[in-house]
Amino acid sequence: MTGEQVYVSHAPSDLELVQTLFSTVKNLPFDVHIALEEVDSNRTRDRLESRIPDSDVVVAVLTDRSADSRWVNQEIGYARAERIPIFPVYTDERHRGGYLADIEGMSIKRDDLSRTICELLGGLRHILEPIGPLSVPNWFMRFPCTTDGCPEQVVLEIDAPQSKLWKQHRHGKPLAVTCSACGGTYYFNPATLGFIRRDPATQ
Ligand SMILES: [Zn+2]
Repeated sequence: MTGEQVYVSHAPSDLELVQTLFSTVKNLPFDVHIALEEVDSNRTRDRLESRIPDSDVVVAVLTDRSADSRWVNQEIGYARAERIPIFPVYTDERHRGGYLADIEGMSIKRDDLSRTICELLGGLRHILEPIGPLSVPNWFMRFPCTTDGCPEQVVLEIDAPQSKLWKQHRHGKPLAVTCSACGGTYYFNPATLGFIRRDPATQ
């Protein structure tokens, strides 16, 4: 699973929240398009909509602020017309009215961001993972080894389901991967996939 397109629709004033929620999703092998990050001098948000038909999922971030955002409403409408799966992510159940009330989504727990990010990853896995025994999906993060002079790309494979990763987080057991070239070991938070630390090769 690589190159999946994730479009994040959100109110302009929620950009910081969105960046926090998606900070590690961006390390997965997807193209994550956060609407406002892409609105620069030569691309208006109107034109950004053209990305929606190519997206594999549209994440709608629903808050007090987005309720009045014509962009978010417009982008949801467009995704719906194009039959792109929508994943509602909301601060309050009442924000997902109408059509979005009936689709599976998740609530944003501002006082528990680890849990929120874990559930967001779970929701995306659920939507993006192909169904069927032959195409057993593999979630992974690929990153350049940061040991001085090591040219290796390190791949952290994520096999466990999200519920198991959450348990692992509760038990304080990080995910670990060792660089095959230099022997350095990387540790990640199993709930959020956030980087914890790198230990040099032992011995
Ligand atoms: Zn290395």
